[in-house]
Amino acid sequence: MRQIARTYDDGQPVHALHPTDLHVAAGDHVSITGPSGSGKSTLLNLFGLLDAPSTGSYQVGGVDTVTCKPAMRTAIRGQVFGFVFQSFHLLPGRTALENVEIGLLYGPHRRRKRRQMATEALERMGLTHRMQADPRQLSGGEMQRVAIVRAVVARPQVLFCDEPTGNLDSANTQVVLAQLRQLNLDGLTVVVVTHDATVADTAGRRLQVADGVVREI
Ligand code: ADP
Repeated sequence: MRQIARTYDDGQPVHALHPTDLHVAAGDHVSITGPSGSGKSTLLNLFGLLDAPSTGSYQVGGVDTVTCKPAMRTAIRGQVFGFVFQSFHLLPGRTALENVEIGLLYGPHRRRKRRQMATEALERMGLTHRMQADPRQLSGGEMQRVAIVRAVVARPQVLFCDEPTGNLDSANTQVVLAQLRQLNLDGLTVVVVTHDATVADTAGRRLQVADGVVREI
């Protein structure tokens, strides 16, 4: 990101993110912290191509995401990026396995292959015994672990997490953090917005946002 900024037009302009230079390298584990309203979601939405900057440029793997065609942004969002949210967003009435398969629906794989990939991904994360469970039968920690598997089953290169442990107690937070750490060790780039100092501390790089200004600490 070069001189990237976001101003919302809310009757009068809200300068949510001031011009910022940022470079995230492949394999980085980055945390973003800061008080409520400081601009963390704004930054994460720009990173994840869920929102467009008001000014500045943002390249992903050499592609200029500001000037490229919208279809290219959609492709990056769907194939290069994965997303995890605070509230899991698992579908009730479907098994954990079926929920993970949803992460492959827009890819090239046929049904049988999707089932195989989802099964193997859950096995790798130690969730074999929960595969047939309805999300409503899972603990919060298990729900988030399944949501993370769904986010990475199509093998994205970057995983964006918005308060991934915000609904979890400290024991479940530790389990989810271990999963994120493992994925990062396996080469996945991880970017996590968090209020939790424990979560921020597990990241190799820490960004702090205050009043729309990003500082690396
Ligand atoms: P955080 O994620 O750190 O809580 P946000 O990025 O959500 O902060 O918000 C940063 C600032 O931008 C806040 O002042 C917020 O009120 C404002 N803001 C966020 N989204 C919008 C929007 N869609 N329209 C107007 N103002 C917004």
